[in-house]
Amino acid sequence: MLQPVTVGTKPLSDYTHICGKDMVEEIRSLAEPLKGKRVVHVSATAFGGGVSEILYTLVPLMRDVGLAAEWQVIYGREEFFNATKVLHNALQGAADDLSPDQWNVWWRYNEMNARELPDGWDICLVHDPQPAALFALAPQKAAGWIWRCHIDLSTPNPETLAQFLPQVQDYPQTVFHLPQFVPEGMHGKVNVVPPAIDPLAPKNMALSREEAAYVCAQLGIDPERPLLCQVSRFDPWKDPLGVIDAYRIVKASHPSVQLALVGSMASDDPEGWDFFNATTEHAEGDPDIHILSNFNNVGAIEVNAFQAHADVVIQKSTREGFGLTVSEAIWKGRPVVAGNVGGIGLQIEDGVTGWLVSSVEQCAERCAALLADPSLGATVGKRGKEYVRSHFLTPRYLRDYLRIFGEMGL
Ligand code: UDP
Repeated sequence: MLQPVTVGTKPLSDYTHICGKDMVEEIRSLAEPLKGKRVVHVSATAFGGGVSEILYTLVPLMRDVGLAAEWQVIYGREEFFNATKVLHNALQGAADDLSPDQWNVWWRYNEMNARELPDGWDICLVHDPQPAALFALAPQKAAGWIWRCHIDLSTPNPETLAQFLPQVQDYPQTVFHLPQFVPEGMHGKVNVVPPAIDPLAPKNMALSREEAAYVCAQLGIDPERPLLCQVSRFDPWKDPLGVIDAYRIVKASHPSVQLALVGSMASDDPEGWDFFNATTEHAEGDPDIHILSNFNNVGAIEVNAFQAHADVVIQKSTREGFGLTVSEAIWKGRPVVAGNVGGIGLQIEDGVTGWLVSSVEQCAERCAALLADPSLGATVGKRGKEYVRSHFLTPRYLRDYLRIFGEMGL
């Protein structure tokens, strides 16, 4: 019932010229004693959002260094994803808790998946809240268990957390992006490790200025005019409505500016369509606002082109676990203006590797300043890229996981 996900192959050696020989050697020596270990990643979806983005890279690299790594997606129907979306939002601080019925649905699907999960794993690595009860329900299926939290748990709805915590607090190992996301009462070993982006994936590989402009032009952007862009799921926490408001303020001083809101629909995000419609409505038919998604044929290369071509990349989140899009844009040397929340602060030091903002007005002011003086963005973009190189590329993330695996004594 769980679906194995087919991933391609990625040789670690391809990353040597980007991350350096020392990193690659460290990874190989950490991997040596783990050769042949059976590791399964379990997540809620194979498409859309940061977790799937990461696993398409991490799983092939784990295989390349000798682990028998797999990725399986849990079974769920609409009622389950409706419940898990409420769970996700409540854990990030929304006022609505799950109804008793929704908790029941969540639990029932976890039971089904726990039953169906094959056994014999050395490590089962469970991603995010959706399948979090697997360990409590079927601990015998793996020798070692890790819960990987990708969301911002710093200000959770207390009722929701109280119900949820017993399902995760006994995992022998947990991994969070930031210390402030770790809830009180975790019994196992807590690791703080931020995620990373794959510099060689189609999403992030180098495109020339001309190629990026050419791809954007095919999607309706005028390459001669300035472009602001946000790449994000259509989700209230990503604040696309606030981005439109900021764009309108910028438009007053830069009438030729365009805005692209590029957002994929994740299969585990039933709220996405409602919010997509709300965003379209908010744009009020402005022909310079381009709202695009995977349903307009926007895939990894197109996202790459938008991030590489935009004069300013915005990530105006009001809650953010990490925000891979921030590192993605910085890696392309772009000036990034982003909400001062969650994991974004790890990636952006204000005025050094990008800019942090806390309101629509601040966001607009910063974007307008960058359009007025592109040299400002160029310097920060270059510095940002080096920062991402040393902190947020996949080999570093792989190394950190191998360290954790090694410490589990399996
Ligand atoms: N993404 C994409 N197409 C889109 C919107 C998002 O490929 O139209 C990708 C984006 O490039 C990033 C991931 O989805 O790699 C989103 O991860 P992030 O951590 O920023 O946010 P999450 O969706 O996990 O909250």
